[in-house]
Amino acid sequence: MAVKLLRAAGQFVLDRLYPPACLLCGADTMQAGLLCGACFVRLPVLGPPCCAACAQPQASSALLGADGLCASCERRHPAWEQGRAAFVYDAAARDMILRLKYADRLEYAAFLAGHMVRAGQDILEAGALVVPVPVHRWRLLSRRYNQAVLLGRYVARARGLDYGPDVLERLRATVRLARFSRGARRQEMQGVMRVRARWRTRLRGRTVVLVDDMLTTGATATACVQALRDAGAQKVHLLVAGVVPERPGLDIDLQEMQ
Ligand SMILES: [Zn+2]
Ligand SMILES: [Zn+2]
Repeated sequence: MAVKLLRAAGQFVLDRLYPPACLLCGADTMQAGLLCGACFVRLPVLGPPCCAACAQPQASSALLGADGLCASCERRHPAWEQGRAAFVYDAAARDMILRLKYADRLEYAAFLAGHMVRAGQDILEAGALVVPVPVHRWRLLSRRYNQAVLLGRYVARARGLDYGPDVLERLRATVRLARFSRGARRQEMQGVMRVRARWRTRLRGRTVVLVDDMLTTGATATACVQALRDAGAQKVHLLVAGVVPERPGLDIDLQEMQ
């Protein structure tokens, strides 16, 4: 009881010293960990209709086939089964993902992951294993942490699912892929991802939810899915914070740091 009172008093003092502020612009908010009204309207939250595989928002549900796929995924289904994204990678969502990635703004992870849990509620099924897309250890020297690992941990915890931050290993750093042709991307990603030995027997027959901060070309996720399937995973779904909109001429150079 005394501890609870002390904690409440402590929170009261903290709120006076550091009033809850908008995660993005720092304006006053009602509650810590949220956005102010002005930033929230800049947040491109994704809702239906979206393609069930590539997660791209669609102008009309009439554009989706009976299984919820866009025309492009109907022609060529992505390597993963179902794909979900919390946001379009644009405006405020883009600001947050980039700051989480490069500016140590770890408080964004909880916010983004909360929305990923919402977007992925139907694929975060009971018994699924949550696995983040790994970065190469050289990248960790400059960035110190892998943003997908943070997001995955929050997502798994929120749904009470098993979490495997070390299931996949990236064997080499790859170049930025966005400018390459599909064939060149596939070549570059060939054999880049591997399931660590201690996980190989534990993946058999399991459903895996692969987590990343963003979905751009899909080449990285495809390499992960192949490694997981080769190790016996039965189904692999993909859950990301932001999906880069299909927009010709969009400069994704800065953003795709594989
Ligand atoms: Zn704000
Ligand atoms: Zn699609």
